Amino acid sequence: ARQHGRNHIEFYSPDAWLRARRRLEIEHALRGALEHEEFSLAYQPLIALDGHGVCGIEALLRWHHPELGPCAPDEFIEIAEATGDIVAIGEWVLREACRQAAAWYAAGLRFGRMSVNVSAVQLRDPGFTQRVLAACSDAGWPAAGLELEITESALLLDTDALWECFGALQSAGVALAVDDFGTGFSSLSYLSRFPVGRLKIDRSFIAGLAGSDSTGRAVAVTRAIIHLGKALRMQVLAEGVESGEDERLLRDYGCDEVQGYLYSRPLPPREMVRWLQTRALI
Ligand code: C2E
Ligand code: CA
Ligand code: CA
Ligand code: CA
Repeated sequence: ARQHGRNHIEFYSPDAWLRARRRLEIEHALRGALEHEEFSLAYQPLIALDGHGVCGIEALLRWHHPELGPCAPDEFIEIAEATGDIVAIGEWVLREACRQAAAWYAAGLRFGRMSVNVSAVQLRDPGFTQRVLAACSDAGWPAAGLELEITESALLLDTDALWECFGALQSAGVALAVDDFGTGFSSLSYLSRFPVGRLKIDRSFIAGLAGSDSTGRAVAVTRAIIHLGKALRMQVLAEGVESGEDERLLRDYGCDEVQGYLYSRPLPPREMVRWLQTRALI
């Protein structure tokens, strides 16, 4: 490494080089991933705490490349956003999730809404609303059975176009949720303007609720978000619920819904069906 100070040494370090190479490999591999049918969806149940059981299913993207092996969404989504590939990938996710939801419903399974993650890059696409509604009608899944999960940073766009898009989705009955709530940088002002029906408390707060790593701050933030949601007449869901103690606390705090390993990990379709069938018998 040439030694022009810390930054240059950083840049030439083998670690940084490996990271850059991995990034390029992913970027390259992503280009053919849709065509080669390397994506699949895993499904995780959303549970209502009022005792009525499953109230929804979140679709989570999975990618298995023949050489790179399985690659986590936290790693490749950001790259797909940078290249723009996320627009086509995201549309595949929407279509597949709606198709699966309609098929399950036709087979007699009941699970409430299908919830799909949407990137800020997809929202910038002027045809987004039309694509969403087309995905629903082509699949035979009602728009009112679909929820889109959007991160706070996506709401920072705050343009007339975004406002129109949300208005159109809302009139079609599509629900909107703010994902990873509490971790973004945005001001809370969007909450009173956008037709958001649900806040999803980020799992980093839930991880601090109970047990040995419990902190008073995690409890305070979680309770504040639940109060905020109630004041704004929104539903609040807590992610990353891993213990019965987490569930008990969240119920006490008045949280509406939960999601996490306590109930189920994200599952491939066949296992999700089995999970739903077993649940229905309880
Ligand atoms: P997310 O939307 O916040 O999804 C929840 C993540 O938490 C999932 O990770 C899920 O497997 C994990 N999780 C669920 N319950 C628990 C729990 O009890 N404990 C712990 N430790 N983790 C739990 P996953 O599937 O790796 O997805 C990571 C992120 O990638 C998602 O976070 C979402 O931001 C993004 N993502 C996934 N699928 C899509 C997609 O189709 N489109 C877009 N734009 N983003 C996606
Ligand atoms: Ca999500
Ligand atoms: Ca989340
Ligand atoms: Ca997340």
